[in-house]
Amino acid sequence: MSKVGEKHTVVIGGGIVGACTALELIRAGQKVTIVDLGEPGGRQAASYGHGCWISPASVVPMSLPGLWKQVPSYLMNPKGPLVIRWRHFPTLLPWLVRFLLAGASVRKVESTAQALSWLLRDSPERHQVLSEKLGMPDLIRRDGLLYAYPDRRAFEREALAWHLRRITGLRWRELDRTALALREPGLDEHYSFGILAEDGAHCIDPGAYVARIAKAALADGAQLVRARVSEFVFEDDRLSGVRTDQGTIACSRAVVAAGAWSKALARCAGDRIPLESERGYHGVVSLERGGPRHPVMPSDGKMANTPTTQGLRLSGQVELASIDAPPNWRRVDILLEHARKTYPALAKLKDIEIDRWMGHRPSTPDGLPVIGRSSRSPDVFYAFGHGHVGFASGPITGSIVAQQITGNDQPFNIRPYSPRRFRLGRYEP
Ligand SMILES: Cc1cc2nc3c(=O)[nH]c(=O)nc-3n(C[C@H](O)[C@H](O)[C@H](O)COP(=O)(O)OP(=O)(O)OC[C@H]3O[C@@H](n4cnc5c(N)ncnc54)[C@H](O)[C@@H]3O)c2cc1C
Repeated sequence: MSKVGEKHTVVIGGGIVGACTALELIRAGQKVTIVDLGEPGGRQAASYGHGCWISPASVVPMSLPGLWKQVPSYLMNPKGPLVIRWRHFPTLLPWLVRFLLAGASVRKVESTAQALSWLLRDSPERHQVLSEKLGMPDLIRRDGLLYAYPDRRAFEREALAWHLRRITGLRWRELDRTALALREPGLDEHYSFGILAEDGAHCIDPGAYVARIAKAALADGAQLVRARVSEFVFEDDRLSGVRTDQGTIACSRAVVAAGAWSKALARCAGDRIPLESERGYHGVVSLERGGPRHPVMPSDGKMANTPTTQGLRLSGQVELASIDAPPNWRRVDILLEHARKTYPALAKLKDIEIDRWMGHRPSTPDGLPVIGRSSRSPDVFYAFGHGHVGFASGPITGSIVAQQITGNDQPFNIRPYSPRRFRLGRYEP
């Protein structure tokens, strides 16, 4: 039963962002329906298969000064950590140009890092509190995140990335060969230098965690509808419903939290957002002994190796192609090949069973999410485009959107995430 004066909000998408938004709204006394074409936290969602890192260090955008020089290798080297599929290059070109421009100067990437740090700096604590409230504190581990390098020079070659982390307040500890081997005895000996980002955390079962967040919202009175949303129904500029393949759902507000699929919905609400899928992959292998005890990012593999409930999750790769293109499972073989060089115990295993997954990072060219009201209607809100950091920043995004909807003050300036920042020659938050 609706409360007097209560508005009904449809949250489109039950990934980490939609689930957290729904939970915040229902706890603020709103009437909420989550609409997703799959199960919340199911395999179709990026929130299921990511690298599990909850990292205040993830403030470094993908586009950095000088990256343009590497574009030819992204097109030519099918084994690199970032590839652009030739066939999709012409369609992706406008996004790529904006992407390269976003990282054209140190000043630009410093301001992007700052805006990302507002979303990430307390992300481990937010996830810890949330998991405790859900009665699943074991899913979040706050024991740091490790970057492994062959030597100190390899670390120094990433000076800009660590500069961005330093100016956003990250603390870390340097590990020499002995300290590194103590932290991660299973690492190959070609790694002799490490950085331990002590504030970092990880999740050991993201799919179960997101499903649990959605379940908590349902237990508090939210509804779940399995359907695909196709458009909005407006009366003048006011929202009266969302149209789905199962019929129209009457509502007075909607939140677009459909991850990489949000672009068409934003278009229906008056905004052309340059959103593309940065496709990524994971492989899960079972490694009982000699595997990592904690999450590790080996600098030569550019991937996250994270112990999870299901096994060791090897995740990474950035593949730019259309959202509908079929997966290229050789990308998981590349991840496995790197992991064999990282862990001698894995290199010794024959006939490895591996669970392969491909998913879509919802990525804007400037590496910042889109959070704010739509241009067409004050009743449609956006919460998508979190690229590489959506899992970590899901809870704070849910809280920002709920505060916008309920008319409360924001904890910090959210203007950098404005949907209108992509308009040429004009900037209205
Ligand atoms: C390989 C890889 C590694 C990553 N590693 C990390 C990491 O370590 N840390 C981190 O913070 N982030 C990481 N990310 C990024 C992170 O996974 C995403 O940013 C985040 O999960 C996005 O969450 P979301 O809720 O916006 O979207 P999703 O999780 O994709 O959820 C969107 C939901 O919307 C639904 N949907 C879509 N269209 C419709 C529609 N029309 N109608 C109804 N429902 C719809 C989908 O079914 C889906 O359930 C990684 C991503 C990848 C791919």
